[in-house]
Amino acid sequence: MKNVVLLGSTGSIGTSTIKVAEDLPDKIRLLGLAAGNNLELLMEQTRKHEPVAISISDPEKAKLARGMVKSSTEVYCGNEGLIKLATLPEADIVLIAIVGTAGLQPALAAIRAGKDIAVASKEILVMAGEIVMNEARKHGVRVLAVDSEHSAIFQCLEDKPGHSVRSLWLTASGGPFRTTPKEDFANITVERALKHPSWVMGRKITIDSATLFNKGLEMIEARWLFDIEMARVKVVVHPQSVVHSMVEFVDGSIIAQLSTPDMCLPIQYALTYPERVSSERVQTNLAKLGKLEFEEPDVQRFPSMDLARRAGEVGGTLPAVLNAANEIAVDAFVNRKINFLQITELVRHTMEQHQVVSHPTLDQILKADTWARDAALAFSQG
Ligand code: NDP
Repeated sequence: MKNVVLLGSTGSIGTSTIKVAEDLPDKIRLLGLAAGNNLELLMEQTRKHEPVAISISDPEKAKLARGMVKSSTEVYCGNEGLIKLATLPEADIVLIAIVGTAGLQPALAAIRAGKDIAVASKEILVMAGEIVMNEARKHGVRVLAVDSEHSAIFQCLEDKPGHSVRSLWLTASGGPFRTTPKEDFANITVERALKHPSWVMGRKITIDSATLFNKGLEMIEARWLFDIEMARVKVVVHPQSVVHSMVEFVDGSIIAQLSTPDMCLPIQYALTYPERVSSERVQTNLAKLGKLEFEEPDVQRFPSMDLARRAGEVGGTLPAVLNAANEIAVDAFVNRKINFLQITELVRHTMEQHQVVSHPTLDQILKADTWARDAALAFSQG
């Protein structure tokens, strides 16, 4: 039985994790649940799973929650609440599925308290991959991937040493605008960008999948998770999203992980690792799927991937700046302040203005994050 703390329980990954826990009641116990704003769903989850502690961002909502839960459930709030949950003494693993950067401090707190972490929030590794992985090594804990691509690579690698790997191949669906001509990009509406062809996900990651910034963030995430230089992290477009990613070994062999797209699979693998646990949820009929296609990503139409590659190669504070500027840009696009093309322009401009700090401390990363948000906001308003 694994005692799991779930940060971001009310989101897309969070609710899939709850399904996995419900599939495996004798393997997974939900010990702690944290939400941002959705008190109603958090209360429903709490009634059903009776965690020992919950947390919600807003202190007023936490007050309301206290009157609604059993006395055996502690109620916390804000960032402090996330850290309390991430360090609960009985917790075995902390799954971080909070959108944005709020998951970074709880991730570090969990590692320092000797907990394994399962990372859905790629922002954590993009911003502070070097620090997070060094801390994990120091404290002897695992950093397990929840992102389907990284879970696939982890499953294909099976502890093979870095020198046996030629390249990691991340697959990309190509998003809803895979075949849209560049001339039409300025007219892409928020509604169209929110319709992903293969995955149902939260708003931020859905827009990132349309610009391909999601793949760029994943390239940096892979660089840190698998301790491999950016040049060996490659991307191939695969519209069916059945091959979740691949490892090409030095002898030319390529090993891939396949399934119909369903986030419950990588979530379950991370939570039950190193076991493979039986589940009927995901079924894949290759004959019915018929064909699997692959194509080169078009970096002319999607320059976000080159920006991310540069950020990953330069390293230091630049990936945190890319991540923060992209969050501001996505927000401005969703609020109809900038058009689709300007998302990438805004990120590029912010990156160009930044004075990179190499091997930054956490404090320097957080400062770069704040600087980038201010710079991107000023640019989006000007
Ligand atoms: P959603 O927007 O669906 O959910 C975000 C979750 O974070 C919600 O539970 C939200 O709470 C919570 N949250 C936001 N801010 C805070 C905060 N300050 N404190 C506590 N909780 C907070 O996002 P997704 O589930 O799609 O994505 C989550 C992360 O996982 C992202 O980093 C994304 O890139 C990554 N990811 C997602 C995939 C997917 O298939 N969705 C696939 C791979 C990675 P509330 O709703 O109550 O406000």
